[in-house]
Amino acid sequence: FSPWTDPGATPFIRFENVTKRFGDFVAVDNLSLDIYEREFFSLLGPSGCGKTTLMRMLAGFEQPSSGRILLQGQDLSGVPPYKRPTNMMFQSYALFPHMTVEKNIAFGLEQDNMSKADINARVQEMLKLVKLEQFAKRKPNQLSGGQRQRVALARSLAKRPKVLLLDEPLGALDRKLREETQFELMDIQTKLGLTFLIVTHDQEEAMTVSDRIAVMDKGILVQVATPAEIYEAPNSRYVADFIGDINIVEGKLLSAGSGHAHDPVKVDCDGFVVAVDQETCEAAVGASVAFAIRPEKVRMSLDQPSETAVNTLHGEVWDIGYLGDFSVFIVKLADGRFFRAAQANIARVVERPITFGDMVWLSWSEDAGLVLTH
Ligand code: ATP
Repeated sequence: FSPWTDPGATPFIRFENVTKRFGDFVAVDNLSLDIYEREFFSLLGPSGCGKTTLMRMLAGFEQPSSGRILLQGQDLSGVPPYKRPTNMMFQSYALFPHMTVEKNIAFGLEQDNMSKADINARVQEMLKLVKLEQFAKRKPNQLSGGQRQRVALARSLAKRPKVLLLDEPLGALDRKLREETQFELMDIQTKLGLTFLIVTHDQEEAMTVSDRIAVMDKGILVQVATPAEIYEAPNSRYVADFIGDINIVEGKLLSAGSGHAHDPVKVDCDGFVVAVDQETCEAAVGASVAFAIRPEKVRMSLDQPSETAVNTLHGEVWDIGYLGDFSVFIVKLADGRFFRAAQANIARVVERPITFGDMVWLSWSEDAGLVLTH
């Protein structure tokens, strides 16, 4: 299911040149974005980049200073929050402390004048969905953080919104519970066939749950793509650096390549030249560009690789970070720069074949790295 790759697909939500100013401050800057029905979509970026403001405008809590927001083609300007088919779940959950779990879930439905029998049926359905049937009579302070989070989710979903807006929904949970809950959220989203829009500054969370991610910086959309594209083909130093670990080396474009494997893009990194097998580079020869490569794509060995001299570096193992599944080796090159290589710890690491102070060779294939022009 990927309507965003279908040029004929109609967007479910459309932000059209949306700007939001608070006084002189531009929180969201002329932003255009399409989100499709049944997508699990993440807004990702550092604190203050405008994620929540964007979401609040969709919910109707803030009005754009200019631009429009459309839902199924309908302009939402002037539509108050309670008339929008959106529901927002806040990080604080905002549960009523004096009400039981079932009362909390029923609250919004009672406001809508639903019949008692219908409310009951819906509450039972929601309790089952979030696996809290046995907790119906408890109050929020008799629940764990994870259970409270599920009550908030059930309450947000009870009114059957078309779009659920989640603002840092898992921020208060510890890491393990957070990871479990991510999969539950994905499961519920698929089951109900809803569109989920989530705000997060946790890149791993965004990578895990999302169909697509929008990476934001200072009110601007930097890249919108699937998690794999964002990781494998970041469009800028900013995105490359924000998501995951990466080596970024500044340099000058030596050759823009021709798109053929035998004519790669080449970058002079001031001391060594790297070759990258990618589409031709749009920058002019001589322009400042960066070479980037993920540590796990760098091979490391004690013996000099027999192949060519390109994409090969020599240095000393300066530090090793043990991360359980991986170890990251920080290698100091002769000129003092550092380069990172990661190795999977497939067997138990008792004695390392490569250790501190070893002189090692780093190498990588031409299709492993990237040239970043922005
Ligand atoms: P966080 O992850 O910290 O919530 P965010 O990316 O969601 O950050 P926003 O809450 O959208 O960021 O805020 C974007 C910018 O707009 C911030 O600099 C914030 O201070 C500013 N801002 C948000 N709401 C208002 C407001 N009502 N009045 C003035 N400035 C505001």
